[in-house]
Amino acid sequence: MDLRSKIREIQDFPQEGINYKDITTLLKDKEAFKYSIDKLSEQLKDLNVDIVVGPESRGFIFGCPVAYNIGAGFVPIRKPGKLPAETIKYEYALEYGTDTLEIHKDAITKGQRVAIVDDLLATGGTVLATAKLVEQLGGEVVSMNFLIELTFLNGKNVLKNYKTSSLVQY
Ligand code: IMP
Repeated sequence: MDLRSKIREIQDFPQEGINYKDITTLLKDKEAFKYSIDKLSEQLKDLNVDIVVGPESRGFIFGCPVAYNIGAGFVPIRKPGKLPAETIKYEYALEYGTDTLEIHKDAITKGQRVAIVDDLLATGGTVLATAKLVEQLGGEVVSMNFLIELTFLNGKNVLKNYKTSSLVQY
């Protein structure tokens, strides 16, 4: 299936010069949505994944059905102040300023095999921060799987130590 044709591109969103990839057009298409989840699941099927981790918020949309499909648990990564129990935080640099992500301290146990699933790989900052949180809890990041990869941003450079894959590349 041509998934690229299901992804809408919006010029100058959220700011000038950005060609935003809008996945809502893919999500509402029943064949394209099912195909995407099945393909992402297929990439993980031989990896003995215990937990799928998804960063807020589109990582939930793709990560949850993938976890269900492969018989794994799901753990959310959230912006600060959203998770109710005890958390650990990871702060990382953006072009201007910093961002922080959180995970529940008891979300992952030592030695669990973790796959990180998100809608889109851009610079890799989000998913690298996510991997650091997983590793601080003793989890092993066995795969990072994306619907979309913006290859021109070279996110793979900061993810050299991880196995990554994507279904659509720009
Ligand atoms: P990174 O941290 O630079 O790799 O950015 C990835 C994060 O930003 C993902 O969680 C995406 O949801 C979001 N993102 C960045 N660019 C786009 C886009 O064009 N469309 C949808 N999401 C985007």
